[in-house]
Amino acid sequence: MPILRLALPCPLRRLFDYLPPAGVDVARLRPGQRLQVPFGRRQSLGLLVEIAARSALPAHQLRAASAVLDAQPVLDEALLKLVLWAADYYQHPVGDALFHALPVLMRQGPLRVAEAVHWRLTERGMGLPAGALQRAPRQAQALAALQAADSVSLEALVAQDIAPAILKALADKGLAERFHAAAPAVSAAPAAPRKLQAELVLNAEQAGALAAVNAALGRYACLLLEGVTGSGKTEVYLQAIAEVLRRGQRALVLVPEIGLTPQTLARFRARLGCEVAVLHSGLSDRERLAAWQCAADGEAGVVIGTRSAVFTPLAGLGLVIVDEEHDASYKAQDGFRYSARDLAIKRAADAGCPVLLGTATPSLESLNNALGGRYQHLRLRERAGGALAPRMRVLDIRGQVDQAGLSDGLLAAMAATLGRGEQVLAFINRRGFSPALQCSDCGWLAECAHCDARLTVHAAARRLRCHHCGHQQALPGACPTCASPALDFRGPGTERCEQVLAAHFPRVPVLRIDRDSTQRKGSLERYLAQIQRGEPCILVGTQMLAKGHHFPAVTLVAVLDADGGLFSADYRATERMGQTLMQVAGRAGRAERPGEVIVQSRSPDHPLLEVLLADGYNAFARVLLGERRQLGLPPFCHLALLRAEARSLSEAEDFLVTLREQATADGAALEAAGVRLTGPLPAPMARRAGRYRAQLALQSRSRGRLNQVLGALCALAERAPTRRDLRWAVDVDPVEW
Ligand code: ADP
Ligand code: ZN
Ligand code: ZN
Repeated sequence: MPILRLALPCPLRRLFDYLPPAGVDVARLRPGQRLQVPFGRRQSLGLLVEIAARSALPAHQLRAASAVLDAQPVLDEALLKLVLWAADYYQHPVGDALFHALPVLMRQGPLRVAEAVHWRLTERGMGLPAGALQRAPRQAQALAALQAADSVSLEALVAQDIAPAILKALADKGLAERFHAAAPAVSAAPAAPRKLQAELVLNAEQAGALAAVNAALGRYACLLLEGVTGSGKTEVYLQAIAEVLRRGQRALVLVPEIGLTPQTLARFRARLGCEVAVLHSGLSDRERLAAWQCAADGEAGVVIGTRSAVFTPLAGLGLVIVDEEHDASYKAQDGFRYSARDLAIKRAADAGCPVLLGTATPSLESLNNALGGRYQHLRLRERAGGALAPRMRVLDIRGQVDQAGLSDGLLAAMAATLGRGEQVLAFINRRGFSPALQCSDCGWLAECAHCDARLTVHAAARRLRCHHCGHQQALPGACPTCASPALDFRGPGTERCEQVLAAHFPRVPVLRIDRDSTQRKGSLERYLAQIQRGEPCILVGTQMLAKGHHFPAVTLVAVLDADGGLFSADYRATERMGQTLMQVAGRAGRAERPGEVIVQSRSPDHPLLEVLLADGYNAFARVLLGERRQLGLPPFCHLALLRAEARSLSEAEDFLVTLREQATADGAALEAAGVRLTGPLPAPMARRAGRYRAQLALQSRSRGRLNQVLGALCALAERAPTRRDLRWAVDVDPVEW
């Protein structure tokens, strides 16, 4: 009897063996199909991974699966392979990884799946000649209906007056079987416009990049397209995709979480004469399923989406594009902690097609790969369409910023810009009024009761909020420790900056754009429309403003504080600061008017800041790479964390200490494997939402060894007796250490 090896959505790093459901012909089963199976005392979904000849379990312990849910695999062969690879690479429970790759509605139990009941013939039923079962005319009628198609929905059968009882009679004879099929797609995507926008004439650098991509079509290659903001990377993507479509293939485009603006989407739809399926976190589960099926059914020529879109089925994949490849949102921060960029590269390699990583500010990993010749390095150094690069300068603000973080020099520059009828963008990566509230008499600081973090003041709402766990409380009128009314706001957030600027420039609209001000649906679009009108105004905003948008009338970009990234304990902070700064700077002067970027700093002579502003991101990134090489940090080693979280720090640490001791019982083996263990140490923010977090770090120059040792640790952790409220997880290639 063949054995079905299934992955179940559970935290165990293994497959489960089942017998086929009664009456189901194993020859018709394919890996990637979902089944319903008994699991303990309940029913669970399972995904068929392979069909094996025998099981390690004795026969009497094997249970039979209950039903087959899909007529076709929901994960095709390529995706199944990709996710299995990822589960191993990230040492994540295989069932959880596989179900994560499916749209939410497909992960839920069969009863909640938006599904239809279908019927089809079994092998035996198909063996019957037309006109069989003459002695049971109603069964003969049902048989004829099933013979007419691969499968027929119950609804359609009932409409032909075929009662469920008749179908049941056929099933009892082993002639027909019922199964569940997901509801057919309702195409969410509007049809492509009939008249397509014309392609732009590429400049020489763009043409070179396009030629390189086109030359790579039909085989695997990884190309890093490093092009300054406004250099026309998107135009290169569009023309490369057009070529892929002409060859009858399809393209997958990944964009960061906040980079998928309506503008970007409109541009793709206006240019490509095919269905564009869009997948992002703003969709309802139904819309997501529909877009997913539109891609799976081959209707969409292009799939464009955020992180999890890397798991969209797409036959005939001819090109993968990862826009803003450096963006941290590609790495999942909880659950299945995969990097969509890295999986996109793997997917392209499996499919034998090129992958194009585009960015103005490459991640150090990608840059290192390009410099080492593993990636083809394409560069666009000039802005397209004649726009000039912005001038960048640092403004020394030692001892001269007000409470909103604005220096006189900056205010004067803003006044001049507004006086010319142009727009100003002030970037400050902190929402709220002020990041801290402190008593000036006793020094009390408002801190979150559940996290190692300060509470942020939200003045308009008169609340204190924790940006890490969501806790909030009323803004106190006096110090809770000494009752002094002298409470001070320490430092600025967007709200405060907005207020001060509005007072300073009473005749100019000040638009604050952050997660708080754009919560209501459509508000961001309204702000963007106002900015597009081009009248003088000041935009105050966070990261949300830094990406994807095109603000032709903005000619001054002010970065209120660049110092946080220069003096952080997190080794990636400097890299991120450089990237964010260049992205924001890229908003300046995207049209015919030249732009200026002013960066306020209390350490204007910092060598890294000087290199960044004077020589640009690439030079800055090379200096950082040199530092990383010296310190043996990624990308010059591979890093993984084993994280544990519990109700007390000691519980979390003890768990990791035990694992470490068990793993290093044979210390020589570990050393021979070339894997260094550090910790356990408290995580950067040890207490968060009332839970304490500790982590054990693994470093190695060998990816394979790291994976091996990590696998061994996971096996130990799975067997370790743990308190019920202890949770542990693995983070391979973490972005936060
Ligand atoms: P990026 O993606 O690198 O930031 P975009 O592709 O958005 O750059 O291009 C920036 C601007 O330059 C857009 O307004 C685009 O229409 C324009 N542009 C791009 N390529 C060309 C070209 N070859 N000729 C004229 N304008 C161009
Ligand atoms: Zn006090
Ligand atoms: Zn909190």
